[in-house]
Amino acid sequence: MLFVHLSILSIYLILGSISLTTGDSFVMKAIYGVNVSQVDKINQTVERLKETGVNSAFVVKDKRLIDALHKNGLRVFFSINVFGGVGPWNQFPELRPITHTGKPLDSMDGYGGLCPTNEPYRQRKLDEISNLLKEYPVDGIWLDFIRYPTKWEVKNPNIQRTCFCTNCLTKFSQDTNVKFPYNLTTVEEKANWILKFYDSTWNKWRSDQIISFVRDVRKVISEVRPKTLLGIFAVPWRKGDFGEAIIWGVAQDFEKMSPYVDAFSPMVYHEMCGRPVTWISEITDYFSMQTKKPVYPIIQAENITSAEFREAIHAGLNPPSSGIIIFTFPYLDRKKWDILSQSLNPPH
Ligand SMILES: [Zn+2]
Repeated sequence: MLFVHLSILSIYLILGSISLTTGDSFVMKAIYGVNVSQVDKINQTVERLKETGVNSAFVVKDKRLIDALHKNGLRVFFSINVFGGVGPWNQFPELRPITHTGKPLDSMDGYGGLCPTNEPYRQRKLDEISNLLKEYPVDGIWLDFIRYPTKWEVKNPNIQRTCFCTNCLTKFSQDTNVKFPYNLTTVEEKANWILKFYDSTWNKWRSDQIISFVRDVRKVISEVRPKTLLGIFAVPWRKGDFGEAIIWGVAQDFEKMSPYVDAFSPMVYHEMCGRPVTWISEITDYFSMQTKKPVYPIIQAENITSAEFREAIHAGLNPPSSGIIIFTFPYLDRKKWDILSQSLNPPH
């Protein structure tokens, strides 16, 4: 009998350790954008995070900060901008997406975005991720701007249809065996023809350009540091929002991405998106059902009242949420630190 009991106990222990290593049981309580460099500030910040009940931080690349967080039992994450910004447009003009009118994408006040199919750029980004994982002992990386461009964090987004650059048109034709009629000469003609006759083929192919990059990052992680968690900062749209623009606009197919991903963080910035606080829970619920993975919503701390911040934290922690990320460190004033502490350390 004793032997049997011990066996059952050891099975529980083994199961317990499996769920810990896959991160399933991890309740993330994180702050995004932790950026301090002076030694005394580092110690103060780490103390404050611990007192507040925060167990994780998205940080800048600073080994002393990472080391201090780890020594105090906190987990450390990097956010990686994949296809965002306008930075490379000058040096690599081929990375600037082309719209369905054949014109280069507008910068949208510096917001921008990059063509996701450019092979040299993708390889450079994968190398950068590989080198980061070799150099910094982080517990996870979260991919940001892992999508096609559109400034989505507004109430009424101007949703872009990209990218119709020469490389994208050629690759689409090769990958799908769709041949353009000879009489189509301009980019605008070809784009309109695709959208008229091959809209669903085009949308699926675009989603595949994003999914394949996530899959490649997973491969890098497996080779370099297999226990590193892979997360996604996701546009907080359901398929029913904006006429399925999550697919035809930004090309984030969460269901198909999910096998390569450990956790999803929908960016539920409710005030920016003109939504009520209850929307945070609705989106978290939706992502949990779609992806079957842990969901750690990331909520905004800026431009909202303290009372609303408290409600947003509670909405973000509602099951099936597996935790929460606060955006962002510099926006936390004294009052909001207090609210965060009360919400993460509830009285027993
Ligand atoms: Zn392109």
